[in-house]
Amino acid sequence: MIYLDNAASTKIHEDVLESMIPYLKEQYGNPSSIHRYGRQAHKAIEKARTQIANLINADPSEILFTSGGTESNNTALYGIAKKNPGSRIITSSIEHDAILEPCKKLEKDGFDLIYLPVDNSGMVDPLILKNNLSENTSLVSIMFGNNEVGTVEPIFDFVTICKEKKIIFHTDAVQAIGKIPIDVKELGVDLLSISSHKINGPKGVGALYIKAGISIDPVILGGGQENGLRSGTENVANIVGFGKACELSQINLVKNISKMRELRDYLSKKIIHEISEVVLNGHPENRLPNNIHLTFLGVNGEDLLIKLDEYGIAASTGSACSVQIQKASHVLQAMGFSHEQITGSLRLTIGISNNFEEMNKTVEILKNVVKELRSVSPFKEKYNF
Ligand SMILES: *Cc1c(COP(=O)(O)O)cnc(C)c1O
Repeated sequence: MIYLDNAASTKIHEDVLESMIPYLKEQYGNPSSIHRYGRQAHKAIEKARTQIANLINADPSEILFTSGGTESNNTALYGIAKKNPGSRIITSSIEHDAILEPCKKLEKDGFDLIYLPVDNSGMVDPLILKNNLSENTSLVSIMFGNNEVGTVEPIFDFVTICKEKKIIFHTDAVQAIGKIPIDVKELGVDLLSISSHKINGPKGVGALYIKAGISIDPVILGGGQENGLRSGTENVANIVGFGKACELSQINLVKNISKMRELRDYLSKKIIHEISEVVLNGHPENRLPNNIHLTFLGVNGEDLLIKLDEYGIAASTGSACSVQIQKASHVLQAMGFSHEQITGSLRLTIGISNNFEEMNKTVEILKNVVKELRSVSPFKEKYNF
């Protein structure tokens, strides 16, 4: 198998797995307990907090552990919204569902939601953001790197605009972390979401960076863990693994980025060179270093996925979360794509364990599969396949 769906999830790093095992076996204490078992577990999660903080240049006290990117996003949105009933909240039309769904709920609960448009490369225009800010805007949430087409948004420009009006800025950086150097102090963001399983850590753990001085209302109440911001006994093993994944990501960041970019560029150029009627979607330069998003005209993306799987390639049409629902991508719709362009889309996302041999194999298989599907395509005449 060739795994090219690293935007959906990644392989756990061997060192990460190893770091977790003691906390699943002999070190089972509750981090809140006074005895040594408890103290050991507590120490382990504080070490992980530092490892995570270091990756984004935050202070450990600014890291809140969550169950993943989805919970981090929900916590940021509800955490600020609850303090500002009825206020305006601005987001973009290409966010992950973990932003869009809570936003829809907030809209039903009487908040004034604005969904900013994007251009045909998936970019949000900072000027449009500026024009939509109002006196009663409490929060702006715009993603760092898009999970489908890979477009990287001008976060620094958004922050600058929000700062002038003292409006809180959140970004969903789940796809960007480990692929773009992120320094929260330099960027000036107030809130930032990350997830462990997108950077070779375990699933079901993530973090929300909350800048010192920013106050949020807790969503989950109980025993008062995480300074009362997220009750529930900490997922110690997962947190330890997440910390290790962040440490490894930090150490290898430059190397990982250049490796992923090299493989990505090689694969992308080869596909476009060797297969006709293919379009690269998203922004040509400002994109995540591991993302290729293509439209194969005259091909159905779902059929393509099934065929690729048969030949040993794991890919995606875009969002893992919408596969079961089989709805047209809201991201591609917001980018103004036609039905045909949306139908023929394929996302290939590189990970740190991919290699050149796999890229060559992928092109060969893709060539054959696309040819096969096009030979029975209803668009056969139109494109003269
Ligand atoms: C994967 C993803 C999420 C959800 O993260 P989980 O940890 O799977 O809940 C949120 N936002 C983006 C952009 C993602 O890619």
